[in-house]
Amino acid sequence: MEQVAWDELLRRMGELRDFGGVVGLLTWDQETFMPQRSADGRAAQLAAMQALIHERVVDPRLGELLVAAAADGGLDEDRAAMVRNLGRERDRAVKVPPALVRELAQAQSRAVEAWRAARAEERFSIFQPHLERLVELRRAQADAIGHAGERYDALLEGHEPGMRVSRLEPLFAELEKALVPIVETITAAPQPARWNYASQRFPVDAQWDFTIGLLEEMGFDLTRGRQDRSTHPFTDGIHVDDVRLTTRLTEENPFQAFFSTIHEGGHGLYEQNLPRAHVRTPVGSAASMGLHESQSRLWENMIGRSLPFWRRQLPALRRLFPAQLEGVSPEAIYAAVNRVERSPIRVEADEVTYNLHILLRFQLELALLRGDLTVADLPAAWNERMRKDVGIEPKGDREGVLQDIHWAWAEFGYFPTYTLGNLYAAILHERLERDLGGVAQVIEAGRLHAVRDWLAEKVHGVGHRWDAEEIVARATGEKLSAAPFLRYLEAKYGALYGVAL
Ligand SMILES: [Zn+2]
Repeated sequence: MEQVAWDELLRRMGELRDFGGVVGLLTWDQETFMPQRSADGRAAQLAAMQALIHERVVDPRLGELLVAAAADGGLDEDRAAMVRNLGRERDRAVKVPPALVRELAQAQSRAVEAWRAARAEERFSIFQPHLERLVELRRAQADAIGHAGERYDALLEGHEPGMRVSRLEPLFAELEKALVPIVETITAAPQPARWNYASQRFPVDAQWDFTIGLLEEMGFDLTRGRQDRSTHPFTDGIHVDDVRLTTRLTEENPFQAFFSTIHEGGHGLYEQNLPRAHVRTPVGSAASMGLHESQSRLWENMIGRSLPFWRRQLPALRRLFPAQLEGVSPEAIYAAVNRVERSPIRVEADEVTYNLHILLRFQLELALLRGDLTVADLPAAWNERMRKDVGIEPKGDREGVLQDIHWAWAEFGYFPTYTLGNLYAAILHERLERDLGGVAQVIEAGRLHAVRDWLAEKVHGVGHRWDAEEIVARATGEKLSAAPFLRYLEAKYGALYGVAL
């Protein structure tokens, strides 16, 4: 393709990324510092920006440029990936009629209101007609986008490009089959001695100082990013040089802040180490939600919830909380932050039971999309699966089917990315162990920069040149499977609980 045409395409790509950054900044502000009564103005600004982005994405001229570029066999690998990624995004946007987009947006905001009311009154029936409408609209959207007989694939593609239900189903079935007896054995085992911190208070200023220290040790660059507070922690990659994290501070449980910071710090490192040369192109972003989540979970669970990590951190923690930590050992902290129990709430679940919560959601939303399950039957189906898989009966719909906001946002196909994140993390972690020659020693010596550098080279710096599964395969030589994650759980929890798994 001619240089002048390529330059125009590149300019349009750059502009779309900049608009995306503006949306990110508006959203970050909304969740952190925006005054309480400013919501209507912000909603209008965000809608205007989204409309502008949509307009530019569906612009026929962009379509022409992408077609011309795709026909050019001489593009290098990076350019070919830019064209492929933006082409896929444009294709999805063009195929969905504007009336359906508007209807979805309106139905979503009404559904969120109804979901809040349904939770407050613990009455699923308030939410039910809204969820029925959202399922209907998403089915229509999936059909508009197109699929090979599995509507869910069209939605999954929006979060996990390249992934398919036919790939997930056997993978998740294998995981489920292995997890149920593991949970059985661990919950029947004698409990290890753990630090009981629940009766104490932890001043939030000292917690804040500790979390900043953690980010520095992880190698998060605070001159190109910052941390603030929010109710629900999140990461917002506005630009490679402007990455915003939030954490959540409560006096009762300092681990909420510590693990939120480590988790979001893992996401933040991904954003800070994306390929600088491609920062304003469709290659300069993360490859998928699942791969993003693999970064946060590798840091939070495999590093932050390890024994060497707490051996390393205890002296600093003791300086900040001397009275609370009197006589507390790293082993007691380690046992406290890795307690396995059957619990109804996903976001409070430990890493052993967590995926069972996700598999349940995946199976139910797949059944809804396929038409094998009605929304009216959803609460009963939820409770039955909880009993069967997690081994616990929710006390009501608030700690059952109404616990997550995702379905009120019409997010179907998002939940599986959490489990994919755990699986990818374990594959990367095994390779990291081989390449660094002992991650435990690296963590205990406080050399977390070595972990960051490895991930930056193998994952972050690749951007979206390939899809997630290929990035992980090239980094590790391994295909996506549940085996490394299961090996990780068996080794860690077998030793902690003194059982053979
Ligand atoms: Zn996350």
